[in-house]
Amino acid sequence: MNNLTFAMVKPDAVASGKLGKVLDATLAAGFIMLGGKLTRLTKVQAQAFYAVHKERPFYGELVDFMTSGKTFVMALERENAVQAWRDTIGATDPAEAAEGTIRKLYAEDKGRNAVHGSDSDENAQKEIAFFFSDVELISNQD
Ligand code: UDP
Ligand code: MG
Repeated sequence: MNNLTFAMVKPDAVASGKLGKVLDATLAAGFIMLGGKLTRLTKVQAQAFYAVHKERPFYGELVDFMTSGKTFVMALERENAVQAWRDTIGATDPAEAAEGTIRKLYAEDKGRNAVHGSDSDENAQKEIAFFFSDVELISNQD
């Protein structure tokens, strides 16, 4: 399935009141929200979600940041969703992100960068399943 991706509005953006603006930009870019909820990651969840980065020097800081406040998690639908969402959010470091992207507009720095996006269809499926059960994903179809 290549029409779904997983997105997260990170604690920096939620805490600074940018959730509405990020949701606006998300819907304006043509994504349909199948699932969405406000949550606060536990340390165990953040460590597991970012386990792929556990050997990286920024891992501890990343886990601290991701557990520092509320996040808004979403399952998003759009054609070619993974790449389309990466294009919508821009580069990891907002200083390198293209004009008009969510990270360029709303991120603080490379760590506190406002939003997450899956990097592959396989990871999109895993990340959606990490936060949502099937009944929480509401399709527009009958
Ligand atoms: N990150 C960081 N320092 C770095 C690289 C990444 O703090 O030098 C954080 C940042 O929040 C980033 C997350 O770790 O979004 C995951 O990194 P990745 O390389 O997967 O970037 P992304 O896929 O989020 O663009
Ligand atoms: Mg990544």
